[in-house]
Amino acid sequence: MSDCIFCKIVRGEIPANKVYEDSEVIAFKDIRPAAPVHLLLIPKRHIESMLTTTKEDEALLGKMLALTPVLAREQGLGAGYKTAINTGLAGGQEVFHLHLHVMGTPQ
Ligand code: C5P
Repeated sequence: MSDCIFCKIVRGEIPANKVYEDSEVIAFKDIRPAAPVHLLLIPKRHIESMLTTTKEDEALLGKMLALTPVLAREQGLGAGYKTAINTGLAGGQEVFHLHLHVMGTPQ
């Protein structure tokens, strides 16, 4: 999606403080952190929200969830962290490119 802000981050057209990247996903620091550590983990492929995922996305979604403890530990959140996926306008989603919030306070 050409005008999607997270697709622009994926393409390197706008800067982001990246902490992880592979062929399918990127994680970067949220620009308005709601916690001392606040990461966003996104698929590189444009997926609007959880409401538009399909069975074909199961492996990708599982991979994203499985990456959260790896990223969290790297950020000092080995004692614990919160995850959130806001879904749809009614679910508080503001950026319509699927993203998983990882938030916490290093102990
Ligand atoms: O889940 P929701 O859509 O509400 O969250 C979007 C998140 O994306 C916000 O926490 C906002 O700070 C973040 N954001 C960002 N970089 C941007 C635009 C939004 O980290 N360029």
